[in-house]
Amino acid sequence: MLRIEHLTVYYEKAKALDGVTLDVGEGSIVTIIGANGAGKSTILRAISGLTAVSSGEIWFEDTRIKGLETPDIVRLGIVQVPEGRQLFPFLSVSVNLKLGASARRDRDAIDEDLERVFDQFPVLRERRNQQAGTLSGGEQQMLAIGRGIMAKPRLLMLDEPSVGLAPIVVEELGDVIKRINEKGVSVLLVEQNLSLALSVAETGYALQVGKIVFQGKIDLFKGSEIVKKAYLGG
Ligand code: ATP
Repeated sequence: MLRIEHLTVYYEKAKALDGVTLDVGEGSIVTIIGANGAGKSTILRAISGLTAVSSGEIWFEDTRIKGLETPDIVRLGIVQVPEGRQLFPFLSVSVNLKLGASARRDRDAIDEDLERVFDQFPVLRERRNQQAGTLSGGEQQMLAIGRGIMAKPRLLMLDEPSVGLAPIVVEELGDVIKRINEKGVSVLLVEQNLSLALSVAETGYALQVGKIVFQGKIDLFKGSEIVKKAYLGG
């Protein structure tokens, strides 16, 4: 569904990604793990058209998406939930959710989808008129994911959704990711929380200073020394 080939990204003269090749199959959950600064967010930002690519290709099905504008990439069905959630703290839960639909052209279906998101996240329905900034960390992450769903993703990309959440909330987050996937949405999950990544993903990539150092079925990750090293920053 998504294929990245030999992706290289520079920030000024610093190489952030060095020849990254990866695949996300239709209907799958794929994870990218790695330490701080490994380049995980840069991969997602390059896919979303938020960071310029120096070389390599990015394909979404038959469409070459490198160089497309972000709203056009979103309209194809690639939606990113950014690190740090980036909600509008003084706006209500409902308004934040509706902003997720701003690139959509089917305006008539938006209210219906809002109800569907509320069915999926009852806590958001209860708090629909509350300012987003007053939600708990876990509720804010659910809101950020709900906002992503409002954009009608076919591929949902999550950038470190577990940051700052209590273990029990991280577990709930894992269930949420699996449920979204069961509805037919493919997921690309960037994580530093190895246990979350290993519990939801089918396949994975370990990234270390801009390079893929390990890849394969998720079971192979458990106990791998290379993965441990990438994860610890090696
Ligand atoms: P984290 O887990 O800490 O979010 P990450 O794996 O997502 O890290 P990136 O944010 O992709 O890593 O950053 C990769 C490298 O690129 C880092 O060395 C970072 O300092 C650098 N970098 C990221 N964004 C920029 C930028 N806009 N300008 C210059 N350097 C940048």
